[in-house]
This record gives sequence, C-alpha cells and structure tokens, in this order.
Amino acid sequence: MTTVLPQKGTAWPALEAHMKDSAKHDVQWRDGKASVYVFHSGDEVMQVAHDAYGLFIAENGLGPAAFPSLKRMESEVVSIALALQNAPEGAVGSITAGGSESILLAIKACRDQARAHGAQGELDIVAPYSVHPAFDKGAHLMGLNVIRVPVGEDFCADTQAMADAITPQTIMLVGSAPCFPYGVIDPIGALSDIALERRLWLHVDACVGGYINPFLAQVSSRPPPTYDFAHLGVSSMSLDLHKYGYAAKGASTVLYREKSQRNYQIFDFDDWPCGQMFTPTFAGTRPGGAIAAAWAVLHYLGNEGYCERAGKINAAKTELIDGIGALGLHVFGDPRSSIVAFGWNDGDILAVGEGLYEDGWFSSRVKNPDGIQVMISPEHHKSMSKYLISLEKSVNEVKSGKRIRQVDKVSYS
Ligand SMILES: *Cc1c(COP(=O)(O)O)cnc(C)c1O
Repeated sequence: MTTVLPQKGTAWPALEAHMKDSAKHDVQWRDGKASVYVFHSGDEVMQVAHDAYGLFIAENGLGPAAFPSLKRMESEVVSIALALQNAPEGAVGSITAGGSESILLAIKACRDQARAHGAQGELDIVAPYSVHPAFDKGAHLMGLNVIRVPVGEDFCADTQAMADAITPQTIMLVGSAPCFPYGVIDPIGALSDIALERRLWLHVDACVGGYINPFLAQVSSRPPPTYDFAHLGVSSMSLDLHKYGYAAKGASTVLYREKSQRNYQIFDFDDWPCGQMFTPTFAGTRPGGAIAAAWAVLHYLGNEGYCERAGKINAAKTELIDGIGALGLHVFGDPRSSIVAFGWNDGDILAVGEGLYEDGWFSSRVKNPDGIQVMISPEHHKSMSKYLISLEKSVNEVKSGKRIRQVDKVSYS
C-alpha cells in the first residue's frame, strides 16, 4: 500500500485481505511452528481473549474512578495471582504491560526502598548468568549494576557463588522459575535464605513459570520445586499473563510481599496544571482490553482448564525429551517447567538449529553451552512429531556433512 496517509479511506474487507496477505510469511504459529513469542492454547481461548479485549478496547486503566470495572478486574486478577503464588496476607500487586515492565517496576521499588533506607553510591543486583536481559535494561535505566554470576553444572543459579558475589552495595538478588535459556528453576529456597540472612530483596522472575508451574504441580509426576512467596525471603515476583496465562499480549503481573514495598513502585506527582497524577505503573494510559482479556481468560479456563493445558504441555514435553534422547542429543539440566533446552556432544547443534529454522520452526538458540531451546505451548502436542522429524533430518544433515553452520552469532531475534 502507501507510506503516506491516503487521501481516501479503504473499506475494511480490502484492508483485512491485505493484512492477512502481509502475514503469510510470518511464522506459522497456528501450525505449532513457534516455540517462542506465541502461547497457543486453542482457538476457543483465543476467541475469549479477543472478545473480552474488544469489549474494553476503548477503556483506559489510567482512570479507575471513570472505569471501576477495570479497577475491579485488575484487583481480581492480582488476587488470583497472589493466591497461586502462596502470597501471605497483606501482599499486593499490579497488572503491567509485560514481563519487562514487571521486572523494571520491581527494580525501581527495590532501589527506591534502599535509597529511602539510606543506601548510597552505586548499587548492585546479583543475578545468575541465565536471567532475562530485562534486569540489565532496568539497571541501565535506573543507574544500577548487574553482576551476572555463572550458573552451576545443573544450569541453575550457583547459590554459593552468588552469596560470594554480594557486595556492601548489593540491594537485590534474582532467581528465575524457570530461566528462559535453559528452562531450569533456580534454587529459590537457598536464595531466600541468603536474602533473609543478608537482608536483601529477592525477586523471583516467574514470567514464564507463574501461570504454568502451579498447574504442572497438580498434574506432573515430577512437579516443579517450590519457587514462590512460600519462601519467606521472596520480596517480589513477576509473572506474565500473556505467556502461560494465555491472555492477550500486553499483560503481566508484578507482586510484592508487602504493601510498603509496592509503595516505592508508584509515581505520584502534582506540580503541573492538572493537579495530582497518580500512576502505579510506568504507563500513563493503560489498555483496558489487555486487563479485560486477562480477567476473562482466567475465569474462562479456571483451575481445570489450566490443568488440562498443563497436561498437554507435559505430554508434548515427554515426547520431545524422548525424541531428543533417541537422536543422541541431551537435555540441559532437569527442566521441570515448560521449557526444554538441549545440546549435542557429537555435532554442531547450532547448525541443526539453522536447519529447523529453514523448515519454518522458530526455536531459540542458546550459548554457553550451545543448544536449542523449546518453550512448549499446549497446542504443541499436535505438532511435536513433525518437529522431531525436522530435527532428525537436520541432525542427519549435519552428521553427513551436508549442513554446515552459516552464522556464528547466537541472536535471540
Ligand atoms: C518473557 C520473559 C521476560 C520478559 O517479558 P516480556 O513480556 O517479553 O517483556 C522476563 N523474564 C523471563 C524469564 C521471560 O521469559
């Protein structure tokens, strides 16, 4: 079409046709080809999210007095999240636009509390090497340093090394449940003990796990280890509604053990002509649709719906792990959540990854060590056998020398 605003409008059917056509070279996530970016849990759930979003598409979460409906939905979603994460009485939280915003807000709250309590100079966050870059983004924006500590042989946070990395300037420890690259859950209990002993703020990044671990715990023979507020040293958590909450994009939750901690998240300002402007999150305008869709999907699925989907994820995961083993590849660590990463001792796994990519599969690639990472959605139980056929083909191509890696850099995008 055009790159300037057209003089005359175009009717919707033509626009719709154009947009659908423009998406034809996008990853075919409806066929299960995306193991990142999209969390497909069935057309019905998608329709509920879509319709709920549409109902509140114009509404604005910036104005709780104008839209008490959104305020109520947010507080109900947060209550559900708090209960799922074993939060104590008095714990609070907010809906944010995504995991990065949840993490940035927790970092801000931690920093501002530390400053209010007298911390001076350059301040540090101590985190395992495997944490999400949102911690570095937050630290960069807020003038903090991140000390990334190598993980252990089990790919989990090395708690002794992390304890040793703490300086007098450290204000925050981080653990993931699970981490994105390797899919393993850090030893949150041990990190919690360190946080309590050293009087540090522990953030648990459960952006991936927050809305899947509680259900895997109910349906798995090897459930995820505990990772939440049940550990008394956990101060805050991030959990993404738009991942395994299966909500529309633009929704995550950030939770705090105590209201006093969340107070440092809020920006409250009144020195401008319109008087007080109180924003609990980074956003001004907040999309009503994202809040409504999250609320609707949580209620549409209920515990049973989430457990059913966790069961499908488990089935796909077992199929994947068996397939990996049958090809002579090996799984990294003990992935008890919904992500599996794997490597290959006898060949170039990143070359294998390129073969998968050519076949249209979007798997992430990881380094240190080299590997392929798969984040499993419920609908992947339908496509996993095809994925494994493609994987076998690529492995054989690398074995026979037919396929050699083209690109050296591992890039997330
Ligand atoms: C996705 C993710 C984030 C960031 O969330 P966004 O919604 O992409 O901003 C943070 N941590 C982990 C472990 C994640 O998987």
